[in-house]
Amino acid sequence: MAEKMLKFISLERRTPEKRPADARTHDFHEIYAEYIAEKAVEQASRCSQCGVPFCQVHCPLSNNIPDWLKLTAEGRLEEAYELSQATNNMPEICGRICPQDRLCEGNCVIEQSGHGTVTIGAVEKYINDTAWERGWVKPLVALRQRRETIGIIGAGPAGLAAAEELRRKGYRVTVYDRHDRAGGLLVYGIPNFKLEKDVVARRVKRLAEGGIEFKLNFEVGRDASLEELRRRHDAVFVATGVYKAREIEAPGVGLGRIVPALDYLIASNRKGLGDAVPEFDSGMLDAKNKDVVVIGGGDTAMDCVRTAMRQSAKSVSCLYRRDRDNMPGSMREVANAEEEGVDFKWLTLPKGFLGKTDVEGVRISRIRLGLPDASGRKSPEEIKGADFTLKADLAIKALGFDPEDLPKMFAAPDLSVSKWGTLRVKPSTMMTSIDGVFAGGDIVRGASLVVWAIRDGRDAAAVIHKYIQQKAKALVPQAAE
Ligand SMILES: Cc1cc2nc3c(=O)[nH]c(=O)nc-3n(C[C@H](O)[C@H](O)[C@H](O)COP(=O)(O)OP(=O)(O)OC[C@H]3O[C@@H](n4cnc5c(N)ncnc54)[C@H](O)[C@@H]3O)c2cc1C
Ligand code: SF4
Repeated sequence: MAEKMLKFISLERRTPEKRPADARTHDFHEIYAEYIAEKAVEQASRCSQCGVPFCQVHCPLSNNIPDWLKLTAEGRLEEAYELSQATNNMPEICGRICPQDRLCEGNCVIEQSGHGTVTIGAVEKYINDTAWERGWVKPLVALRQRRETIGIIGAGPAGLAAAEELRRKGYRVTVYDRHDRAGGLLVYGIPNFKLEKDVVARRVKRLAEGGIEFKLNFEVGRDASLEELRRRHDAVFVATGVYKAREIEAPGVGLGRIVPALDYLIASNRKGLGDAVPEFDSGMLDAKNKDVVVIGGGDTAMDCVRTAMRQSAKSVSCLYRRDRDNMPGSMREVANAEEEGVDFKWLTLPKGFLGKTDVEGVRISRIRLGLPDASGRKSPEEIKGADFTLKADLAIKALGFDPEDLPKMFAAPDLSVSKWGTLRVKPSTMMTSIDGVFAGGDIVRGASLVVWAIRDGRDAAAVIHKYIQQKAKALVPQAAE
């Protein structure tokens, strides 16, 4: 270990002239599998310490990026790790899967000046993976024991971040999740080639060893109502994510082998985890040797096309109704998918699905972009007479997600929702319309990002702590601290 540290220290800071011209292209790997110590130091050394940390401002967690880059460049890796984990409950996960081109890296001043961003996410991943390898990641310890208990519904990044912060403050925390594994979309949405599942599992194990209770295969609404959880706990945090897949309205959409994106990704992730997955083994949800058509232009669509390529599909096409510049997904993901052989059919819409029992083809309309709509994006208009047909043995619908009907599911008609079905919370307290019930993550924001879910989990822990203190103070003025 000492030898390795010496290697860090002896590496000189690289001047711009010594940097490879193609640093950006070659520094990006799917999960930076080849990211080595020298590269981390080299990249960290590229940070100009510009004094206007736009990277930090555009990181939802306000990570102290310039300082941990400086420490990495100086070979002070353990200190870099301490600083990095101080503001982020899952830094090695964010380093892998944040769309950095839209967040920290997209706002790096070196990137802005045309010299290619410092690969912040890759360095973050490197620092924190090294911390796990070298045993620097400490067990979760409660600072004191409190008698109050908190119930958390949902073991995704929002629920897990809140659980960790609340447990550290000493609360007894129970996390309920309807899945058989904790992690939410980190486990069952995001593919393994972007986020290895053992990386999530070791975080969950640390939380369980720190005294957080996980009740898995427990669906709130089926196994207990929200009211029952309120009676069990002093406060409840709802972090259930958004899972209702948006539908396509087109003739033939009911044919076999036209599947929702999450069914497809869950089957692939379960297979990777070694579970028995009959729908995959039957070929239903396996893209091998198939002509695959994915409909949608977001990150979920990108995950589907890239998973299908890895399953040895015969061909993979992606239909998106706008052009490349108006795509919601990360440009880096699109570039990766293109490099891997995905055929993007920009400005297209599925007009109908062809086949007898299973899908055999997709009838497609060509689109032109008209005047901007209310959101400022140009609205798609069909070009008459320009239709064409694409062969398909598997069509995957990846049009995004809406919230489930939580007031109904939770038997809680008083739970107030927005017109989109997301939970309404008071921004300053994160409390829903029901006293002592807080909410955050995708169920409040709508489909968003892991890093925002972590931010919400951390903020929720702080407001829940305040709420409990205030309640205790109201009962016995000297009891709260
Ligand atoms: C395919 C896909 C790929 C993505 N890729 C990225 C990416 O690369 N980078 C990125 O930053 N973001 C990505 N996202 C978005 C990101 O995963 C989410 O924004 C994030 O996971 C939201 O966290 P959450 O904790 O709010 O909800 P979730 O992660 O959805 O977790 C919610 C949990 O609540 C549980 N739950 C729901 N209802 C109940 C109930 N009634 N009772 C008990 N448990 C319940 C669910 O089982 C789940 O475990 C992706 C999303 C998808 C769908
Ligand atoms: S958490 Fe995400 S946005 Fe923040 S520094 Fe890490 S990769 Fe960048």
